[in-house]
Amino acid sequence: MNGDRHLEGRAALVTGSVQGIGLAIAEALAAAGARVAIHGLASPDQVRAAEAAVRAAGAPDARFLDADLRDVAAIDAMMAAAEAWGPLDILVNNAGIQKTVTLAEATAETWDAIIAVNLSAAFHTMRLALPAMAARGFGRVVNIASVHGLVASREKAPYVASKFGLVGMSKVAALEYAAVGDRLSGGVTVNCICPGWTETTLIEPQVAARAAAHAGDRTAGIASLLAEKQPSLRMSDPAEIGALTAFLCHRSAHNITGAAIPVDGGWTAQ
Ligand code: NAD
Repeated sequence: MNGDRHLEGRAALVTGSVQGIGLAIAEALAAAGARVAIHGLASPDQVRAAEAAVRAAGAPDARFLDADLRDVAAIDAMMAAAEAWGPLDILVNNAGIQKTVTLAEATAETWDAIIAVNLSAAFHTMRLALPAMAARGFGRVVNIASVHGLVASREKAPYVASKFGLVGMSKVAALEYAAVGDRLSGGVTVNCICPGWTETTLIEPQVAARAAAHAGDRTAGIASLLAEKQPSLRMSDPAEIGALTAFLCHRSAHNITGAAIPVDGGWTAQ
């Protein structure tokens, strides 16, 4: 299934796709034939590089949409532009931020920013995108949650709250749109992917802190982080999250909805 152009004729928006997991998802959808709107907070050079990467991966068209996801008016404008360019068949809420801090020491600003980007933004994009998807009988929403949408860890109260919220909200949306369309049209599905440790810059502060505790040895720091939680002892490659997203967007995935799929080397099996 992956490797064919099963998303020819489809249009996708991937938030936070100028780097990391989002860029890998944009590339995977592009390789499957979708036109892809990329998005994120980035310099003009980073935007140009991401656009070029998505075109090189096979997107018939790629464009950058600008919006700070803490700003509801900016989200409204981004979604209007995406729908005019699309219309949107696929929405991937991937943008996310995190901070490692105890609950008592987390500031109101930290809480507000993490909830705004990781949870409220997905509420706004979904409420704007889903009705039009339903009217056309096909739609895919893939929300990039986390293992921290399924289990907790210390020092991540705002992040864990945002990801549990995202998993719950996705299940509600899945139920509300479950009966749309049919097997031929592909229906409208809403799912979460819940990654464990995945190699991107998001986890760098935690890697650096753990490396420091191992006399500056980065490899030992990563091994120690993995040993604590991820039984496979391997990080995921962002491209693997991209491949799963492309699979969920296939028409034959019409009955996979309301799922929260861990990609965590056994973390949440424990
Ligand atoms: P990353 O830091 O590399 O990318 C985050 C993206 O979000 C960037 O493109 C950035 O521009 C965008 N973004 C951040 N704040 C924004 C804002 N205010 N407005 C608009 N865009 C904003 O991170 P990543 O590791 O690729 O993470 C992607 C998603 O995967 C996140 O939701 C994260 O929580 C989740 N995740 C990552 C891991 C991991 O180990 N890397 C594990 C589980 C879940």
